[in-house]
Amino acid sequence: DPEPWTGPRAPDRRPTRRLDVGGVPVGGGAPVSVQSMTTTVTADVDATLQQIAELTAAGCQIVRVAVPSADDAEALPVIAARSQIPVVADIHFQPKYVFAAIEAGCAAVRVNPGNIKRFDDKVGEIARAAADAQVPIRIGVNAGSLDKRLLAKHGGATPEALVESALWECSLFEEHGFGDIKISVKHHDPAVMVPAYALLSERCDYPLHLGVTEAGPPPQGTVKSAAAFGALLSRGIGDTIRVSLSAPPVEEVKVGIQILEAFALRERGLEIVSCPSCGRAQVDVHTLAQEVAAAFEGFPAALRVAVMGCVVNGPGEAREADIGVSCGNGKGQIFVKGEVVATVPESRIVEALIEKAMEIAEVPEDE
Ligand code: SF4
Repeated sequence: DPEPWTGPRAPDRRPTRRLDVGGVPVGGGAPVSVQSMTTTVTADVDATLQQIAELTAAGCQIVRVAVPSADDAEALPVIAARSQIPVVADIHFQPKYVFAAIEAGCAAVRVNPGNIKRFDDKVGEIARAAADAQVPIRIGVNAGSLDKRLLAKHGGATPEALVESALWECSLFEEHGFGDIKISVKHHDPAVMVPAYALLSERCDYPLHLGVTEAGPPPQGTVKSAAAFGALLSRGIGDTIRVSLSAPPVEEVKVGIQILEAFALRERGLEIVSCPSCGRAQVDVHTLAQEVAAAFEGFPAALRVAVMGCVVNGPGEAREADIGVSCGNGKGQIFVKGEVVATVPESRIVEALIEKAMEIAEVPEDE
């Protein structure tokens, strides 16, 4: 006999080491966290902190800031102290900014030791400074900046090339006894990125930071990220995620949270289950679904709200939801937990859904 259905279940997670990124656990079975990156000039402290506050409000748990100049490095102590969420400094080539970031109280640093190897023994010094301050490091391999030797060996930025590069970068820290590492192997193409992470997860137990780099603007970037993260998360691969969009970073956070909710890796917030509409629909389902989504934005309880265009699938889906409407002939039947509780004209559907939702969620009327 099949096991009784107990509802959506999150995939089993692949075991990884646990890191502490400024109080946010990453890996080792910790909930998958959502990250983003600021788009402000980091040295513009007010603008950067303002954007971090917006990201925090949207649910971002870890934020990364670029540190390409001395002015940016100088801004880090104030940003790290005032940010409500852990700050990761993103550094290329400049060991002195890595030390500055660690001293500034950043929660982690993204730096590739391969970039700084030529600076004498700075890798060892960084490993010691990071270990003393208990600051983890993310090694971020990108297809676009792969070593020429690896490109030649593998015939391009293949999954094997990305993984070999990442593990070589890790070995530069491991030589110095440092292992508080998380890794990303980003590629713009999910068909390369997914096998790269899958291979990496077989080869090491470092926590993995998922990302499709240069994914593009929405909806392309959203779809690429959702497809790639979904393929990996459903196999238990991925400990923290960053959706990269050519869009305001708050959008990245919203998409990241929704991807985790879709895989039951995060408790679902408001969920609108609405039909695509078809020739049977007797109301304008698209407009109605948008009006319902807008009316429920920020609703203080997690509900599944069904908006169905006709009586074919409508009543069935509406019954599965906490609350829903099944439309027909200029009217809507309002369902609550499977029971029809009212029939209202089309113009009153949104209002009736909100009223019933407030009742079942026991929300006081002034909220
Ligand atoms: Fe069409 Fe009705 Fe299904 Fe909506 S619920 S897609 S209107 S059959």
